[in-house]
Formats: sequence, structure tokens, C-alpha cells
Amino acid sequence: MGRVYNFSAGPAVLPEEVLQEVADEMLDYKGTGMSVMEMSHRSKAYQTIIDEAEADLRELMNIPDNYKVLFLQGGASQQFAMIPMNLMKNKVADYIVTGQWAKKAYQEACIYGKANKIASSEDKTFSYIPDCSDLPISEDADYVYICENNTIYGTKFKTLPNTKGKPLVADVSSCFLSEPVDVTKYGVIYGGVQKNIGPAGVVIVIIREDLITEDVLPGTPTMLKYKIHADNGSMYNTPPAYGIYVCGKVFKWLKKMGGLEVMKERNEKKAKILYDYLDESKLFKGTVRKEDRSLMNVPFVTGDEELDAKFVKEAKAAGFENLKGHRTVGGMRASIYNAMPIEGVEKLVAFMKKFEAENMK
Ligand SMILES: *Cc1c(COP(=O)(O)O)cnc(C)c1O
Repeated sequence: MGRVYNFSAGPAVLPEEVLQEVADEMLDYKGTGMSVMEMSHRSKAYQTIIDEAEADLRELMNIPDNYKVLFLQGGASQQFAMIPMNLMKNKVADYIVTGQWAKKAYQEACIYGKANKIASSEDKTFSYIPDCSDLPISEDADYVYICENNTIYGTKFKTLPNTKGKPLVADVSSCFLSEPVDVTKYGVIYGGVQKNIGPAGVVIVIIREDLITEDVLPGTPTMLKYKIHADNGSMYNTPPAYGIYVCGKVFKWLKKMGGLEVMKERNEKKAKILYDYLDESKLFKGTVRKEDRSLMNVPFVTGDEELDAKFVKEAKAAGFENLKGHRTVGGMRASIYNAMPIEGVEKLVAFMKKFEAENMK
């Protein structure tokens, strides 16, 4: 069986070219006679891999020199604790809760200090982004936290919140490198890579240097201090070496594709195909307020659970995998990350049209 169209929310589709390249290098990485998996992270060959990965990411995102790039472990979820442990100097932080991931981050922060939920969209099942232009930011807040793209509910911040001068901390796991960003607007940008960049096991943290200090909450484990990782070039201990290598390949692929401006155009074009159909369909409908729609995660429903299940089953049989919605929301969700080809979305929509014709009475 050949490759399917994989609409998984994460771990998710990667560029086929990259997979082919890492397969070709599996047994002998560039004449070293070994796989990157078998290589010392202290070797010259590996140092080149991680240095190039960082340089390429810096170039893609135009990351200023006063930001560090850290390749860490523990997934995005570990950052839910690491952020308050390292940044909560006043033990106060403001959280904007627009989905499950932001909620989990907020709940974790409550363990370490006074986390304030200053805005939420939970009243309408997280189907929109609240107005964040004039929120009651706490005077002594150490940072303001958002989850920029909500993987589960399919919403995205189109404008960043007005943090009134406080550092913005953003979880970008599911929109990482999907479009250009102005890094200077953030204190911390972080994301697990398994949504849009590489294999699970790596989390990338882009953090402004002045936020990296020795002054962390008492009891913070060494491994959870940004400073230790920053001072050691992400190699305080063995990093997730193979995962970083694959991320590096994806950065090179993105550069070859033309960079983030081009990815944005491509992602907008892809998302439009699907949203335009959802807007005209009499069977399927999108679940998110139009102006807040994500380019990456597109949830939709028929309004009938049995029909939803039938759709997911028939789609799978036709080669469209992982279209089932998140276990907490049901319905369907198509994740159309960078590596999803346009034909994948076109074919999905053609399949949906056929399903609609067959199932509308
Ligand atoms: C998937 C996801 C997470 C959790 O990632 P882990 O690496 O499994 O901890 C957190 N935030 C967002 C936005 C996600 O999409």
C-alpha cells in the first residue's frame, strides 16, 4: 500500500522528500559510516547538524540575536510548568484560555503562583477568539500567555493580544512555521515539533535573552531551567538528537520551498479550498467563527453523530486518514499542516462532495 493522505493533528504528515532523504542517510550519514541515531552528540558531525538547524530556523523566522533558540525535550506540555518556574518572578501571570491546551497550561501555572484567567472562550466551546485589545492585564504580571493556534478547536489569533508591555508567551505548536511571525512581539515562542516540523520528542523554545535568568522558583530542577540549556547550546545532556536532525531537514525543505511567506500563501490557498466548500455545503459545516479560523486545523460536523462516523469510516477506506475529531469534541477535523499537499485537500473536498450527494435526502 502506498502513502495515504494523513490529516492527523499530531504526530502529523511530514514532507515526503524529507522522509526519503533521512531514509537514504539511515545507514551511513554522509560517509560517517553510521546513522545519526548512533552518533555521539559531542561529535563534529552532530555539532554541524544542530548548528545548521538553528541557523536555518533563525533565517526562516528572522530571529533577532537577542533571542536564544533551545531544542528541548518533554513536549509542549513540559513547558506548561517550565514557563512559570522560570518566568514567574512576581508569582503572577495572566492566561487567555481559548482551548484545552491553554487551559492545561493555566492549570499548571496555578501550582506555582497566581495565574489569572483574564479572558476565555469556553462559554461557546472555544469556537472563537475573544477580543484581547484591552484586557485587565495585572499590574505585576510576569507574562501574558496564549495558545496561538488551537489544534483541537481550530481557532487562531489573527491579532496578538495587547499585553500592555508584559512579555507575551505563546504556544505555537500547531502553527509553527506556517506563516511569517514578528518574533520581537514575543517574550517566548515555543512548540512541540510533532505538529508541523518533525518527529515527537523535540520542543523548540525561542526566548528573549533577558527572560533567561538564575532567578527561578525554588526547587526548579536543573533540567527545567532555561539558563542551563541556553548556556550549554541545548546540549547540557543528550538532546533528542535524531529528532533535531529531522527538524533540520524540514527547515531546509521550507527554505527550498521559498520560506514562510510562500508557506503562508500555500496554506491560505489550501485552507480556502476546504472552508469555501464547508460554507456552501448543505451537509457539512465548520464549527468556528469565520474570522478566527485556523489555517492548520479545520474542524467540521454534519450535525449527526452516526453520519460523522460513517464519513470517517468511508474516508479512511478511500485513503484519507485521521479525520476523526478530537476525542473531547467529536465530529471531524482535517489538519492540513505545511506538508499536506494541495492535492490532498482537493481530493478530500471531492470526496466530501461525493459523500454529500450520496447522503443528502
Ligand atoms: C499537541 C499540543 C500540545 C501538547 O504537546 P505534547 O508535545 O504532547 O506535550 C500543546 N499545545 C498545543 C497547541 C498542541 O497542539
